[in-house]
Amino acid sequence: MAETLFSKIIDREIPADIIFEDDQCLAFRDINPQAPTHFLVIPKKPIAKLSDAEEADQALLGHLLLVASRVAEQEGLADFRLNVNNGAGASQTVFHLHVHVLGGRPFSWPPG
Ligand code: AMP
Repeated sequence: MAETLFSKIIDREIPADIIFEDDQCLAFRDINPQAPTHFLVIPKKPIAKLSDAEEADQALLGHLLLVASRVAEQEGLADFRLNVNNGAGASQTVFHLHVHVLGGRPFSWPPG
């Protein structure tokens, strides 16, 4: 997979406000937050988008959700929204899989 902004954050080539890291993933604050709390959870494995994930990634995908929830709790969020943009038509701009976690304000449904 081509190098992306997020692989450079994993490799510490560009700075980020990292709030969680383990052997499988990283969570860092979004540079352009859309809510009072907005962070991203990304796998260290370079998967461009969710639809590129394979059966072998099942545990990793579950891990990303658990980390998203635990870091949201750590951030003091009881209610929060997860969002995964898959593909340019769904507003994905960085082609390294990431889970957006947003909280600290009300969210309407359906999303825009
Ligand atoms: P998406 O549109 O789903 O691909 O989301 C990409 C997200 O990455 C956007 O919310 C951006 O604000 C965020 N972003 C882009 N560059 C950086 C960066 N260097 N550090 C943190 N977040 C970033």
